[in-house]
Order: sequence, then C-alpha cells, then structure tokens
Amino acid sequence: MDAKGKRIRLRYRVYANELSVRTSHLDATHGYFNGASMFFYSDDFRNLEQRVAIDAPRGWNVFCALDRDGSDLVAANYDELVDSPIEVGPQTPLEFRAADVPHQIVVWGEAQLDKAKLTADLQKICEVEAQMFGGLPMKRYLFLIYLTDKGRGGLEHKSSTSLLFPRFQLITSKGWEDFLTLAAHEYFHLWNVKRIKPKSLVPFNYAEENYTGLLWAFEGITSYYDNLLVRRAGLMPAARYLARLGEALTTLHGTPGRGVQTLLDASVSSWIKHYRPDENSANSAISYYLKGEIVAVLLDLEIRRATLNQRSLDDLMRLLWKRYPEQRGVPEDGVEKAASEVAGTDLSVFFDRSIRSTEELDYSPFQHVGLELKFRVKESPTDRGGSAPRLKPGELKARGWLGATFKSGSTIACVVEGSPAMNAGVYADDEVIALDGYRVDGATLVSRCEEKAPGDVVSITVSRQDRLVELKVKLENKPADAAYLQRVEHPTDLQKAAYSAWLGVPWDEPTPS
Ligand SMILES: [Zn+2]
Repeated sequence: MDAKGKRIRLRYRVYANELSVRTSHLDATHGYFNGASMFFYSDDFRNLEQRVAIDAPRGWNVFCALDRDGSDLVAANYDELVDSPIEVGPQTPLEFRAADVPHQIVVWGEAQLDKAKLTADLQKICEVEAQMFGGLPMKRYLFLIYLTDKGRGGLEHKSSTSLLFPRFQLITSKGWEDFLTLAAHEYFHLWNVKRIKPKSLVPFNYAEENYTGLLWAFEGITSYYDNLLVRRAGLMPAARYLARLGEALTTLHGTPGRGVQTLLDASVSSWIKHYRPDENSANSAISYYLKGEIVAVLLDLEIRRATLNQRSLDDLMRLLWKRYPEQRGVPEDGVEKAASEVAGTDLSVFFDRSIRSTEELDYSPFQHVGLELKFRVKESPTDRGGSAPRLKPGELKARGWLGATFKSGSTIACVVEGSPAMNAGVYADDEVIALDGYRVDGATLVSRCEEKAPGDVVSITVSRQDRLVELKVKLENKPADAAYLQRVEHPTDLQKAAYSAWLGVPWDEPTPS
C-alpha cells in the first residue's frame, strides 16, 4: 500500500475471549492484552516510536510498564510495544519498592488472598534477585496476576510479567510455594533471556520461527533459580527445597524420552515438540525446562566443587550479564565457554554428556554437598517422590506394574516404552472397560494391578475405536520410580561447608518433620 506521504487510518476488531498470558481477554470485569496478539507489524515501522491511547470505561485504570505522555502509552519502538502487556480495569494496585525501583502488583480474579503477604513475599524475591545481579535493569516493574479456575503459566517481559494461577491453590502452602517460584522464574528472566539472550534471537524475527540450542540455559537455569531464589529469600525451608528438587528428579526419571532426545535437540525443536505434545512425547522427548533445571543444579555444584566453593553458578550468570548485555547476544557456545572460565577448568566432558548425549546424567556433583541420589518405589498414586521411604522395608511387598498412564477417566494417555502394557499391545487412546471380566476405570485398574504380584497375567478388555479387544498382560515388578536426595552418612567438613554455602543454612539445621 502506498499512502503517498498521507496519514492513513486503519480500523480492525480483535476477538478477545482467551484468558492466557499470550492472548487477549475482554469482559465486563477487565481487559487484558498482549501486544504481540494485537498490534500490526511492519518492517518499516518497527523502529519508530509507537503510541497507544485507550478509551476505557469510567472508573477503569490502565496498567502497563510503558512510559506515559499524558494518557498515551509510549513505546520507543515496536519491540518495546509488544513486550509490554496492558491490563485495563477497576483494580487498585499494590505497590512496593525493591532495589529502589517502584513495583506494582495488579490482581484480577477473586481469591482468598493475603495482600500484605503477597507484597512482602514478592518484595523479598525481587531484592534477592537484584542483589545477585548488582541492581535492577529497568526503571519500573509490573506484576499482572490472573487468578483463575485452573489455568497456570507465566510470560516474561522486560519490565513486567503476566502470571496465571489457579485461585484455590493459593491457600495451600504447596500452592503458595508454586506461585512464588512462578513469580521468581519470570523475574529472573529480566536478565536471563530478556537481556542476556541467544544471538540467534537478536533481533527477533517476527516473520518466522527462531532456532536456538540454548533454551536449556535460558529456561533450565531459570527453572533452577526459581526454587533456589525463593529458598534464598527465606520463603522456603532447605528441606522443602531439597524435596522439590527430588520431585523434579522423579519426573525426569519417569520420562523415558530422556534416553531418546538430547537436551540440545529438545531446545532446537521446541517449536514443533515442546508446545505440541502428543501421546508419545513422554517416550520420545524431554523437556528442556526439566532436564535443563537438573543440569543447572549439577553445573552449579560442579563449579563449586572445582573452585572449592570460591565460585558458583551466580558468578557464571554475572559474567554472562557483563559479557552479553542487551543486544550483544550469546553465541551458541557462549554459555559453555563462560562456564569453563568460571570453573577454572575445561567442562566440555560435563557438557558433552549433559547437553549432547542421551546418557544418564552424572549425579556425582551432589557428593560435593554431602548428598546422594536414591530411588524407591512410589508408595501411593499421589506420591511425587522427593522424600525418603515412609514404609519400612518389611511393609512394602512387591507390586504388579502395568506401565500405562490415564487421562481422567478410563482413556489411556500414554503407554510407557518397554512396559508390560506396551509388550501386550495396549495402545494410547484405548478405553479400558474391564479387568479379568470386572468393570474398572483407569485408577482402579492401576491399583488392582498393584495388588497383584509381578509375573501374574491379567486380562484387560478395552474399547479400541468402538471395538472390544481383549489383551493378556504379564505384570512386572513396579520400578523404583521415586527419586530423593539423601544425606551421606559421614559428611566431611568440606561437604558440610559446601552444603551450607549452597543452601544458606547449617548442615545440622533441624529439619521440620
Ligand atoms: Zn521461563
């Protein structure tokens, strides 16, 4: 289109009925939109100043991290515009300062919420992160929090974040922990990915997908710090921190895809894999968030071991921040090179195994802080691992294992690679009807199989595309599928000191039961 130098006016309407951190939602209570889903893009206009005027209902306020000129929101360019989500509504914001920078919290959605605690806890997290990097890189910050019936997610921006969280989980202590780690995660992205970013994302190419093998570092390291920083802020006891790490290790070891896809490949193919999971994902792929988090903790402990606790992953993050500020961009080998420099030793063996192979990770760095990775059998359907066995060895009889997971109800979600269910020809999407001639649903099938002994043969009736199929399955021994970290029996002084330097508490701190 050629406007021949004249002003043009373009009108369009946006359908806004999806409440997610990526999209737009407008109803009688508020309006939210993420600029990337709202504003036109043009190469020609990308670097020009952009202005937004909002015609809001009376009594509604506009919340956004952009600068203002009168009532207009002003962005220096298109990148800043679409990186600044906008909330419009009648809410009253909560406010605090961290590292001398003003922060606002705007909450949408009813919930039983202790606003003073929310403000105080977020402030502690922001202070701890600012301290780690030596100050904050923005002039203001906005937390947009959406409390919903079930959605969960967060999206990082350069001066704000949008957080979506299930309202009824906030009242449990585990739910509050989860919420704080989500907030700490997105805030850590202020540096790690919003400013220290892969070279291949500089500048963003809005027209097509952008590939990088570094998502393990940008999301994995961030996932490691989201728990660790909540711990450092004094909002999570060390014992809870270790339990949550054990739960992550349990999930990693419950994912056969870790033996199929490397962390590097998981990063590069996130466009077609991570955000498009299917019934075979657990068998064929691994999350760069999950494995990346475990590689990050091992890398931290490896650096601490190599430098006798003189340096840590914190030093690596500060070095990356110094070396690759804003538009510089981290080359694909930049994180590994900087890590070897910080550790004062060549870490290529560590990275070859952790990033570029599907070999099981080397967990020996846990020894440096006096811990060992152990496995046991899950004791109940809600057992997420992370803790030592509760049952005494005599109380735990061998249990039968099928190796299928269920969607809610009776439909099979995934058949685990190499499991009895796979060997017997059970398929994903089969609907389970009966076990040995008696009607069961998914949960009952699993628990009845566990009451049987390994080696027993059961008959499972399924409906497969409306046809009844009967399958004989020979149960196997339920695998030791719950991971946890156990203290070594006779720790050295060095191990105790390293543990204390890592988690900020003495080795002998009494653990809450
Ligand atoms: Zn993230």
